[in-house]
Amino acid sequence: MTHSRSLLTKEWYKVPLCVDCPSCGAQTRSAGIVVGPSSLIGDLADSAENDILAKPPASLDGFAFVETLSGRTQNIERFVVNRLHSMFAFRNDCLMPICEHCTEGLPPPTIRSSVMNGFVRLGQRRLLVNERLLIYSSNAVLTEFHGGTSIEETNFPYPDYAVVLVCDTESPGGDTGTLELWHSIARNDYAVLVRGHDGREVLRDAVNDDLASVVATVSDLGLVLTQLHLAQASSPYCALARDLFLKALGDAGYQQEHQEADHADL
Ligand SMILES: [Zn+2]
Repeated sequence: MTHSRSLLTKEWYKVPLCVDCPSCGAQTRSAGIVVGPSSLIGDLADSAENDILAKPPASLDGFAFVETLSGRTQNIERFVVNRLHSMFAFRNDCLMPICEHCTEGLPPPTIRSSVMNGFVRLGQRRLLVNERLLIYSSNAVLTEFHGGTSIEETNFPYPDYAVVLVCDTESPGGDTGTLELWHSIARNDYAVLVRGHDGREVLRDAVNDDLASVVATVSDLGLVLTQLHLAQASSPYCALARDLFLKALGDAGYQQEHQEADHADL
């Protein structure tokens, strides 16, 4: 279902996508935006002067793929386009993901299924992070996910920690789970969160001032790391954490089979 309404949210996810660009034909990587249930949706005002205070907005109560954002979009320029200028731009006053080769806009029908499927797949693996920056558009077109779509959002009690890596892991008994590596720049500290295959938290280890102690924890638990994913594929911060973690694992005698851009088999 597609609606044109005003949108106010601090709950949105940048979902990586890979499609063939309809303009230049090359395979391109970019990102789409999915907004979460706490997003506020207002009626589309007839006048261009849409007033957020005129009519109280209602919450979306679900996830929705953002087709276009237009109208009043100053926040989006600041928080989306200026931060992610290789992925998003305004085309005909609408925010659009752009092709990494020709910078033409990728129209919603080209990317919709890639973003919506990617959102569900990555969300289930806790590989999506709420960007938590204010988006306000006076004219948003959204396609809502069917009811019941949920994701496992990464959360941590300390707001200055960010998840940098998610590793698939296996216990000595052959049970699978995930190990999340979190980092706080402010504290210069790492934290580890281990979850079972059902997402249940089994261990939270918060004070690790270096990665060698993280590796020691992994080894004390007898966990084998089978694959390593960047929490955000295009983030240099996550890529650096991966390189440092792989080095710490190597120093401790772990062997790595092969490595790709955003994940490594260990
Ligand atoms: Zn292109």
